[in-house]
Amino acid sequence: MWTYHPELLATPVPRYTSYPTAADFGPLEPGTIERAVAGASGDISLYLHIPFCEQICFYCGCNTAVSGKRARVEAYLAALHQEIATVGSLLPQDARVRRIAFGGGSPNAILTGEFLGLVDALHAHMPLFAPEWSIELDPRSLTAEWSGVLASTGITRASMGVQTFAAHCQKAIGREQSLTMICRSTDWLRKGGVTSLNFDLMYGLPHQSEADLEDSLEMTRKLGADRIAVFGYAHVPHLVPRQTMIREADLPGAAARFTMASEAHRILTAGGYRAIGFDHFALPHDPMARAAQQGTLRRNFQGFTDDPSEVLIGMGASAIHGFPGLLAQNEKHTATYRQLSEAGRLSASHGIVRSAEDQRRGAVIEALLCQGEAVIPEDLLAAVSDRLARFTDEGLASLRGHHLAIAPAGLPYARVIAALFDGYRAAAPRKFSSAI
Ligand code: SF4
Repeated sequence: MWTYHPELLATPVPRYTSYPTAADFGPLEPGTIERAVAGASGDISLYLHIPFCEQICFYCGCNTAVSGKRARVEAYLAALHQEIATVGSLLPQDARVRRIAFGGGSPNAILTGEFLGLVDALHAHMPLFAPEWSIELDPRSLTAEWSGVLASTGITRASMGVQTFAAHCQKAIGREQSLTMICRSTDWLRKGGVTSLNFDLMYGLPHQSEADLEDSLEMTRKLGADRIAVFGYAHVPHLVPRQTMIREADLPGAAARFTMASEAHRILTAGGYRAIGFDHFALPHDPMARAAQQGTLRRNFQGFTDDPSEVLIGMGASAIHGFPGLLAQNEKHTATYRQLSEAGRLSASHGIVRSAEDQRRGAVIEALLCQGEAVIPEDLLAAVSDRLARFTDEGLASLRGHHLAIAPAGLPYARVIAALFDGYRAAAPRKFSSAI
């Protein structure tokens, strides 16, 4: 369905979960994050990072470690409790927490009692206003007990890391999980009250064939996932050392990856899913599909989102904060994070103050990725006209006056087209992966 133009995909581009991207972060002045949190009025969202997993997958680029050392987990959670109290004490009276997301790592790598302790701390210290709760889960460490935990917390949205159902691919990426395990986990989540269930899948995995991917998509559909994310595996061992466990020679080539992405789009849209941007799909009843329909879809550090809040406060090591005028990242090293948090200090010392120009360019990039169209200011259009012509000439995008629209055939090139408006991108292309 899509036409492969390798030359247009040759330059690695960011995923644009923020603009500027985390690659453009630098040191912040002391007190910056405290001032931002203290000024965060109105509806806000919280993200809590749990950087532990029972087993580490070879492909994973997340900030996470094995959960086996209990003392380490307990010390981290103590620091996270302290950070919840510190953030809660800084928030102004009129702040309202409307969304809470637990991610990682795998939030279910900690004990259920520890998880409920965090939920209690949020209730005690944060101005919760009937928030929407969501969680990322690893089926390998999920137990029936978690079903009750989700129900008692009120978690209605869950995302499960599945990646592939093909046993030979699972072995090659260090993530072995049987079909029975996935079915059982799905059952527990539904019984626990999850109404929006996402499966993360991947293409471009070692030894993966088109048939393997089709089979995984079909299984996911049969299990009734409300949302499906189909990410291309990004092989960047120079940035993610654990990926050296995966042999480059075992990976599908660029053309095969493109075909897989194209097939995933064809199969899922034919199967009743609505395409959300370039790599997400949702059934029409799902809030993500409704946001896409209504033109309210956004991008934040978790990817595509229906969250309308302008403020996302991240808690935990390496968690990222997003404010209209500031992006900031907590200390990545857990030991340093713990020290700062235990001293009652917020650890985000890196980030970027978003200038008016950043916000202007960021709005264009977000609109192109989420709505597939944007009105481009005159000066930005003039600066990219030569490079944009490569896409309009191929029918991948259309330009009428200042209105730029990505054509259905241009969906796999959306990130590359959006990157034309990125004022930072001349430097360090090796920090990113292929758009497909
Ligand atoms: S379970 Fe998820 S976060 Fe943990 S190592 Fe695997 S991919 Fe990474």
